[in-house]
Amino acid sequence: MQISRRVKAIAPSMTLAVSAKAKAMKAAGIDVVGFGAGEPDFKTPAHICDAAVKAIRDGHHGYVVPSSGLAELKAAVADYLKRTCGLSYKPHEVIITCGGKHALYEAFLATLEPGDEAILPSPYWVSYPEMIRLAGARDVVIHAGADQGFKIAPQQLAAAITPRTRAVVINSPSNPTGVVYTRAELKALADVVAGKDIWVFSDEIYNELVYDSVDTCSLAVLRDDLAAQTITFGGASKTWAMTGWRIGWAAGPADLIKAMGNLQDQSTSNPTSISQYAAVAAVSGPTEPLARMKAEFDRRRIYMFERLGAMPGVRCVRPQGAFYAFPDVSAAYERVLGRNVAGPRSAAFATKVIEEARVAVVPGGAFGDDNCVRLSFATSMGEIEKGLDRLEEFLKG
Ligand code: PMP
Repeated sequence: MQISRRVKAIAPSMTLAVSAKAKAMKAAGIDVVGFGAGEPDFKTPAHICDAAVKAIRDGHHGYVVPSSGLAELKAAVADYLKRTCGLSYKPHEVIITCGGKHALYEAFLATLEPGDEAILPSPYWVSYPEMIRLAGARDVVIHAGADQGFKIAPQQLAAAITPRTRAVVINSPSNPTGVVYTRAELKALADVVAGKDIWVFSDEIYNELVYDSVDTCSLAVLRDDLAAQTITFGGASKTWAMTGWRIGWAAGPADLIKAMGNLQDQSTSNPTSISQYAAVAAVSGPTEPLARMKAEFDRRRIYMFERLGAMPGVRCVRPQGAFYAFPDVSAAYERVLGRNVAGPRSAAFATKVIEEARVAVVPGGAFGDDNCVRLSFATSMGEIEKGLDRLEEFLKG
């Protein structure tokens, strides 16, 4: 029976091989240190859980929620974006989605035509290229490696624009690199695209996880004319340790948000009503739980960055956001893998590391940079110490 070309073209996940191996080894009783996690290792704060329980008990479990989101949550998100990012969105310019991931997917579907081009800086989050292709468009990758701090230059962006360009994706703080564009760097990128018929996808899902007091900001605040072409993405997953609750959002011009709402109407209907009540408590509640999580992430970040930097053959750009480090390990490839490697070397390296050092890292090839691997510090300090000891031993050979 037929499987559509559209879906058959989706690339198999390069990260899957390593995570399947890690799971199998763990199941066999082998002590593997996992640096693969893309989610906080903390529990959802209690006041948020309480709001969900209350929503269940109050009977908020029907179809009564509008499919584009609970009015109360849209208002709370608009308020949150104003308070924390200085963004001015009205509730009808906000859509609540089944995770930030689905907000991005809906936005690509709602803005791109077949044959259009979407500019994607690499290293990129794994799902962007697939989403762009599912919308029938072409991802035009512009690479910024470790040598340029994983940040694209405005000249690179300008050079990639063609008459077919309809979107550009900016993800700061970044998954997988952890780098954060400064306000000045964002402004320089904004100046390249402002006023053009190009949507700016600003994925700010890690907006609260910024360290070293980096002077950064939301993209849409940078120019008065930018809001009309910018879509700001966010969500509850990373900031409030709510990955499984599946609540995200997009904010942008009302006609686009309405179009995404129509799409949502005919596909998922409303994101889980219970989760939306919980998210109201998250975005409008106390900030102490977030501050505690952030302080712990920060401690681990500095430890991991310093340890990685001291390892032979490893070059690490200082992560200043999210909970990832993305070291360039390519100097170790030849010694570890030999000369003739079939397929991406980062994947072969990750396989060796898990087999021989019992440490799970994610191959950078999955994010468009085969020189690197991704390590998450969303795991306990004890595990981080143990895993980095093992990695260091392995690299000393
Ligand atoms: N954007 C980026 C850059 C991410 O890393 C993630 C999660 N890995 C998402 C969006 C989506 O997260 P969620 O769907 O859980 O909100």
